Amino acid sequence: MTTVNGGISFWYADTGVPVPREPLPGDISADVCVVGGGYTGLWTAYYLKKAVPFLRITVLERKFCGYGASGRNGGWLYNGIAGRERYAKLHGHDAAVALQRAMNETVDEVIRVAEEEGVDADVHKGGVLEVAYTPAQLSRLKAFHEAEAAFGETDRLLLGARETAERIRVAGTVGGSWTPHGARIHPVKLVQGLARAVEELGVVIHESTPVTEIRPKHAVTPYGTVRAPYVLRCTEGFTAALKGQKRSWLPMNSSMIATEPLPKEVWETIGWQGRETLGDMAHAYMYAQRTADDRIALGGRGVPYRYGSRTDNDGRTQAATVEALREILVRFFPATAGVAIDHAWSGVLGVPRDWCASVELDRATGLGWAGGYVGSGVATANLAARTLRDLVRLDSGQAGPTELTALPWVGHRVRRWEPEPLRWLGVHGLYAAYRLADRRELDAYSAQTDPVARAADRVSGRG
Ligand SMILES: Cc1cc2nc3c(=O)[nH]c(=O)nc-3n(C[C@H](O)[C@H](O)[C@H](O)COP(=O)(O)OP(=O)(O)OC[C@H]3O[C@@H](n4cnc5c(N)ncnc54)[C@H](O)[C@@H]3O)c2cc1C
Repeated sequence: MTTVNGGISFWYADTGVPVPREPLPGDISADVCVVGGGYTGLWTAYYLKKAVPFLRITVLERKFCGYGASGRNGGWLYNGIAGRERYAKLHGHDAAVALQRAMNETVDEVIRVAEEEGVDADVHKGGVLEVAYTPAQLSRLKAFHEAEAAFGETDRLLLGARETAERIRVAGTVGGSWTPHGARIHPVKLVQGLARAVEELGVVIHESTPVTEIRPKHAVTPYGTVRAPYVLRCTEGFTAALKGQKRSWLPMNSSMIATEPLPKEVWETIGWQGRETLGDMAHAYMYAQRTADDRIALGGRGVPYRYGSRTDNDGRTQAATVEALREILVRFFPATAGVAIDHAWSGVLGVPRDWCASVELDRATGLGWAGGYVGSGVATANLAARTLRDLVRLDSGQAGPTELTALPWVGHRVRRWEPEPLRWLGVHGLYAAYRLADRRELDAYSAQTDPVARAADRVSGRG
């Protein structure tokens, strides 16, 4: 059994890694320059060009569209958004409810546009199932369920152990919570289809073109500079590598494995007919999907962060992380004990110091950005992009304020991360604490969240 490690991600295994489009040929001018060809950058280009067809939009991508998290994620297209609770504290409950409602609609918006543009991304809208397998997790699950209802998610179902197992038989499950606001997707099919759709609209994409510096009205690359009144930074987990951004969003690793296609007998043991995306309530949580070709793709936090905000090499992940993920797989589904792990990979998320996603267009400079989605960016990037579209149109006098420009994450600023070695020590300490808390909750089998996790939440700014 050989496991492919890296190769960007399993999602490229069938098609291979794409041949990059032509790099920037020299100095050019544009109306809007988008830096980064992931979901955020491509959706932004898509919606802007749709709204204002005469706009000259250039996308600059360091490698190829979908090189980053958009080509490596778990394929949960769902309504979670990082920072909602903090936004409720800062702007009031109603503002956060509006943000959540917009996220619920975003899941369907992505599915709608994918269909309209002929992008077949293996979409299956089976909802999201979160399970608990310790009493402490069950307490958190119930609190989470109530919080979601308070933010307007009244169609969520709280499930007992048996009802949960009727959907997916996770060993030891004591309860679950299911929401319809989620779909399984194939991440690469979505990002590549989107790039094609954007290009067909007349947006110019230059790949193999790293932007070394962004300053007002300029995106600088080794091959030339794009001059544009609006330069929009959509670089998420890679942002720290840009000049002046070292201590903004921290590149947090997330790693995944994909099994071989599982035989019918194994699926009969597991269930999972509804193709829900699956998560748990552990502090160092896992996430999984049943792929269109009947594998399990499962992810979680391995080595959480590389010293100095470095990123991985084309998705390669550590052997210890692969083993840890395999252990989670087998603990969840003992029937997978003998199955091969075909692929392992990792990628980076953008984590702001206060764990809140944000969108911004600075009207004085024309510089904009969107991201800091932590682990919830597949749908959020679409909402962010439509918001950036509205902010550009507002600023250029083409349109007035909209419901999206009024959402509480617009214009949110956050302090920078600590310098090294504090950053490294902090993040590694945090995840060591979460793993310890998960083990202690399993051993104690009590309904209380472990105090170590509570302390870690307070220190990290997540609590
Ligand atoms: C393993 C993993 C699993 C995940 N699972 C989920 C999930 O199931 N559901 C969910 O909602 N979210 C998930 N996420 C998060 C989600 O994938 C991201 O939030 C989302 O894809 C971010 O999109 P983006 O376009 O902002 O960033 P990216 O997709 O990272 O795109 C940024 C792009 O910018 C390019 N770039 C960077 N620097 C430069 C530069 N200087 N010049 C030019 N180009 C540059 C990069 O090459 C990259 O293509 C996961 C992330 C990872 C890593």
